[in-house]
Amino acid sequence: MFSGPMSFDILIRNGQVLDGTGAAARVADVGIHGAAVTKVGWIRTSEAERTIDAKGKYVAPGFIDIHTHSDVGILVEPTAECAVRQGVTTHVIGNCGDSPAPISDEYRELAAHRFEYYSKAGDWKWSTYAEYLRFIERQGVGINIAGLVGHGAIRLAVMGFEERPPTGAELDSMKGHVDEAMRSGAFGMSTGLVYPPGCFAAAGEIIELAAGVARHGGFYASHIRGERETIVDAVKECIAIGEGAGCAIQISHNNPKYGGLGKAQEIQKLWESARARGVDVLADNDAHTDFGPPLSHALPQWSQKLGANDLLGLLQDSEKRQELKAEIMADRTPGAGYVGLLVHERFDRIWLLRCPSDPSKEGLTIATLASRRGVDPWTVYFDLIVEEHDRAVGLFDYMDLEEIKSTLRHPLVMICSDGWVAPKEERTSPTAPYQPCTFGEFPGILQRFVVEEPVLTLENAIHKMTGMPAARLGLGDRGLVRAGFAADLVVFDLPRVRDRATNLWPHTYPFQNYPHDFPEGIDWVLVNGQLAVEDGRPTESLTGRVLRHPGKSGESIRPRPSGRTGISRQGRGRRSKSRRPRSPEPVLGTRSMG
Ligand SMILES: [Zn+2]
Repeated sequence: MFSGPMSFDILIRNGQVLDGTGAAARVADVGIHGAAVTKVGWIRTSEAERTIDAKGKYVAPGFIDIHTHSDVGILVEPTAECAVRQGVTTHVIGNCGDSPAPISDEYRELAAHRFEYYSKAGDWKWSTYAEYLRFIERQGVGINIAGLVGHGAIRLAVMGFEERPPTGAELDSMKGHVDEAMRSGAFGMSTGLVYPPGCFAAAGEIIELAAGVARHGGFYASHIRGERETIVDAVKECIAIGEGAGCAIQISHNNPKYGGLGKAQEIQKLWESARARGVDVLADNDAHTDFGPPLSHALPQWSQKLGANDLLGLLQDSEKRQELKAEIMADRTPGAGYVGLLVHERFDRIWLLRCPSDPSKEGLTIATLASRRGVDPWTVYFDLIVEEHDRAVGLFDYMDLEEIKSTLRHPLVMICSDGWVAPKEERTSPTAPYQPCTFGEFPGILQRFVVEEPVLTLENAIHKMTGMPAARLGLGDRGLVRAGFAADLVVFDLPRVRDRATNLWPHTYPFQNYPHDFPEGIDWVLVNGQLAVEDGRPTESLTGRVLRHPGKSGESIRPRPSGRTGISRQGRGRRSKSRRPRSPEPVLGTRSMG
């Protein structure tokens, strides 16, 4: 690679290198030149602008978070400090059907409402997926970003929140958006089949769209149609969609939620039998049992489009309350996982995190508050939304920790956070959203599931955070510590690794790790060869890149092998490692930025 004596910009010496393949650690030096690792092994020269002594520490590929919701957060907080402080160097965005692009003029307001929380990101200045990616690029990013296009965003851009199948023309328009996104560098398409408008789409519609993803060699990621009572059927549907479209499948955060607890083994068998017939299916999961949404988010999907005033008006009508309760309990269009606690009336597992109007309620469960008030818990639940002007936030503890461990151990499962890049002030504010996954997911796995309890071996945990998601994404030059690969690296001191963002159920109040703190023991992090964390301190560097899916290189030009009728399903899901020049971006209409 180099003529003459080798020199490095950064030399990481004597670390125990976990290469990301799942192989055991071995002591080696890692030499970095520019944005790439140029040598791994025993390096004799001491010529380097900077030398990091990693003796006694581990050196691993930067963690790749396959499932995040950083779509707008990365614009608010481009340094992504909450990610790099964990050793995470790449976020996959656009999950659960939600991406901020495409956006149509017709439904722009409705689309903006979906990301309302980050309204400080400013005006929505993009329409197409390509424009959105360029917008991120212009801002600069501290981590690499790999995008999925959300089916929900596409459906919304074409037909708003219409609860019906698309017309032929609408379906064609949606296909056009898929194609535009894939040609612009999206890695695939996601669905969120419990959220509006994804929940209004039948499998046939999604197969048609996913076929467009498959043509570009991308993958289909899904928050399936119910992760509780219907989880088995929902997994079957997800696999049928991928199989029908000839598309690789990533089943998102696929651990059973309350109402479906105990079904992990049954769904694991479905993944395995699909693999056995050549379907490229993988899954991911995070390690937290709880989630902290506003109480109103557990109400039926159609109510999510109501403004606060309309919602409060609705809840002041006792007849409407009865209808809402009946609709939630009937659960005909399954809501998100945590809604299972309402369906099964487990108000003892819904704990009040924030009640800004009357904080004395914080730290109580809905069940406790109901007995104190001498009313039934449903009344308290609805009352709280009204009393707190829709600012009441609950902590829904809706998963089983033992089952999460069994999911994480499964060889087809990689580790994700399901978190997002959060603005700095969110971490320290007493009214910060509860988001342990955003600040502590990866160190939490290392601390609790590798060191404190041997759920995963260290090398397997690292593989599930690096080489495995990189392979799913088709990134031929990331996810491993190897010469020629991008210098996305993390150096950590395993015995010192602490997650300072997670609080385990059953809760005591006040919390030990809330507001959240950054983890400890993640000492050095490099993003494309530049330091993002320097001896435990963030550098606020912006050396991340907006990654573009390499496309289906090779297959389109390689002649079909003789004696075979076509490319196997498994082969279709795998992408070649070489990159090809991007095709020119198509122009959709006359919309422009700003
Ligand atoms: Zn989801």
